[in-house]
Amino acid sequence: MSPTSTPDVLVVGGGIIGLVTAWRAAQRGLATAVVDPEPGGGAARVAAGMLAAVTELHYGEETLLGLNLASARRYPDFAAELTELTGHGLGYRRCGTLAVALDADDRAHLRELHALQQRSGLEAQWLSGRECRRLEPMLAPGVRGGLRVDGDHQIDPRRLAAALVSACERSGVSVHRARAERLVVTGGRATGVVTSDGTGLAAGQVVLAAGSLSGRLAGVPPHVLPPVRPVKGQVVRLTMPERPGTFLSRTVRAVVRGSHVYLVPRESGELVIGATSEEMGWDTTVTAGGVYELLRDAHELVPGITELALTETRAGLRPGSPDNAPLLGPTELEGLLLATGHYRNGVLLTPVTGDALADVLTTGELPPEARPFTPRRFGAAVLTEQPA
Ligand SMILES: Cc1cc2nc3c(=O)[nH]c(=O)nc-3n(C[C@H](O)[C@H](O)[C@H](O)COP(=O)(O)OP(=O)(O)OC[C@H]3O[C@@H](n4cnc5c(N)ncnc54)[C@H](O)[C@@H]3O)c2cc1C
Repeated sequence: MSPTSTPDVLVVGGGIIGLVTAWRAAQRGLATAVVDPEPGGGAARVAAGMLAAVTELHYGEETLLGLNLASARRYPDFAAELTELTGHGLGYRRCGTLAVALDADDRAHLRELHALQQRSGLEAQWLSGRECRRLEPMLAPGVRGGLRVDGDHQIDPRRLAAALVSACERSGVSVHRARAERLVVTGGRATGVVTSDGTGLAAGQVVLAAGSLSGRLAGVPPHVLPPVRPVKGQVVRLTMPERPGTFLSRTVRAVVRGSHVYLVPRESGELVIGATSEEMGWDTTVTAGGVYELLRDAHELVPGITELALTETRAGLRPGSPDNAPLLGPTELEGLLLATGHYRNGVLLTPVTGDALADVLTTGELPPEARPFTPRRFGAAVLTEQPA
């Protein structure tokens, strides 16, 4: 694309979702640009990177399960393609997950999840406490049972984001390091944005992929604004002993006193413990209470964490939507599409989102697996929260 020509597609937001959209669009021959003050940043700086279609299954989210599974199936090829193109390792580990229970209530909860998984045709194996500890010897003696899910893997979201930035560069995507201030609508059609320094960026189609800020872009007609809200999550990072797999070999997770906690051991030796889930607007303060709860609950599962070095604490914002599922594809405003609202599964949903957006940008049609996630399912959005 020549620097002066108008791109076919302008993606607002260069988090993992905007970047995968831009990369896949460029691969289909569309001249593509991204606008973001900090491409490759966003929630992927914080996220644990679980690819957890099975263990993240919740009641009422069976439609989302279909999309999650479609994306999980694409991950091996997606990761291999991205690494081959960019030379970036992604920390993709096909390590499986163990969801465990510490008391009778947790065990009842896990049994219900198992029944739901079985009704949905998913693979998960019930284990006794002893069998859990045989798989993961660092687990607390009090673990009463668990679910072994060999299909739920992990990736390092920071490395994924860096690889996607590189893939965009290699595929000819132009990157504007600026904030989109306002959508430009001309003759009833989205035709570009104006950035915070007053520069106009025109495009044939605009994709709004600004994560939790997607509902805040000025100039988007109120009935088209996506009903996306920020859901705060705090995480803690520790460092495990040198030899990989000796501390924990797979992701371990549980519900402890009603709160979800997980420990994700990376091949780099990092152990990510997450995550709180807080409706706090745009606040990203790391709080003593948040860190305390994470460490307390993780310690009940794996007491040996107290010996590990604590290397980082961080908070980020998940782009939540009213039904916890993403908004993908055309809006009521011609020329404006959405790729947002991926909430707690954005890392998992990266491959399928890139493919779906590339399809709809080139053909005007969403592929069948993405059709239930049209933004039109919500009608007019109602936003109640304001940014700080
Ligand atoms: C604590 C935590 C744990 C998580 N764990 C997992 C997990 O284990 N597995 C999983 O699948 N998902 C997980 N997620 C969710 C996942 O991280 C998100 O769904 C995903 O990163 C969202 O990506 P995004 O690109 O849509 O948004 P974001 O990452 O928020 O990126 C949005 C981008 O848009 C830019 N932007 C915003 N406004 C503008 C503007 N006006 N102009 C230009 N650019 C703009 C921002 O700078 C940013 O770079 C987790 C999230 C959190 C917070």
